[in-house]
Amino acid sequence: MRRFPGKVAFVTGAASGIGRATAIAFAREGAQVAITDRTEAPLEELRAEIEADGGAVLAIRCDVSVPADVEAAVASTVAQFGRLDCAFNNAGIENKAAPVHEIALDEWDRILDVNLRGTFLCMKQEIAQMLRQGSGVVVNTASGAAIRGVAGGASYAASKHALIGLTKSAALDYAKSNIRVNAVLPGNIETPMMDRFTGGDIQKAIALEPVGRLGKPEEIADAVLWMCSDLGSFVTGASISVDGGWSL
Ligand code: NAD
Repeated sequence: MRRFPGKVAFVTGAASGIGRATAIAFAREGAQVAITDRTEAPLEELRAEIEADGGAVLAIRCDVSVPADVEAAVASTVAQFGRLDCAFNNAGIENKAAPVHEIALDEWDRILDVNLRGTFLCMKQEIAQMLRQGSGVVVNTASGAAIRGVAGGASYAASKHALIGLTKSAALDYAKSNIRVNAVLPGNIETPMMDRFTGGDIQKAIALEPVGRLGKPEEIADAVLWMCSDLGSFVTGASISVDGGWSL
């Protein structure tokens, strides 16, 4: 039995890593999926892959930090599929490592613009549609760095900590509107972001993980789909760590 027949999912940062795995998981579970990313070529590859697998998919180029892009992406999704049930706000970028006094202002703004402002812009459009249809679930990708500090990573950690406040407040705003809002907090996951972060030295990241291995993008997708499904029907405002114990 597939879990999301007749449902519509919207995924940001879908061209790579966690977003890609989650878009594939939604499609396999019967959802119609809008895949969005700022980079087009890998998005097109994913669209072809999901279609070849029998899934219903719409690929939309969208930079989450650009309000007009986000508005158009949500509007195209609703025009194509008629509604928006599950929104996975996952697009995010890592910072260039630096202690606070050495962080350039434009670097600070670059991280916050995508990770925090981008998520807020997406939520505004998605939730407006969910209110019109009377239901919906939002999941924001935060990080273990949303609940612990990261030396050399203040802008990233600040952006992810702020996502928790945004998630909890939105959960309260819409608690009586049949709209749930949660956050997933990945640990060290095998994605291109992790490759960039470690400079290819994966052992460095594995050493941080109590369970002794990196997580797989599919393990984050499993948690996201659970939160979006009726199995998570009483879960809102939650920050769910999927991190092999990294944040303990
Ligand atoms: P990734 O780099 O593999 O994928 C991120 C995707 O987001 C890319 O396709 C990129 O093009 C897209 N993106 C970046 N900026 C964008 C923008 N402005 N608009 C639209 N799309 C944009 O990274 P990932 O590891 O899959 O990370 C996904 C999310 O998970 C991020 O929010 C990241 O902070 C978070 N996260 C990752 C890890 C990890 O270990 N990989 C750990 C904790 C949290």
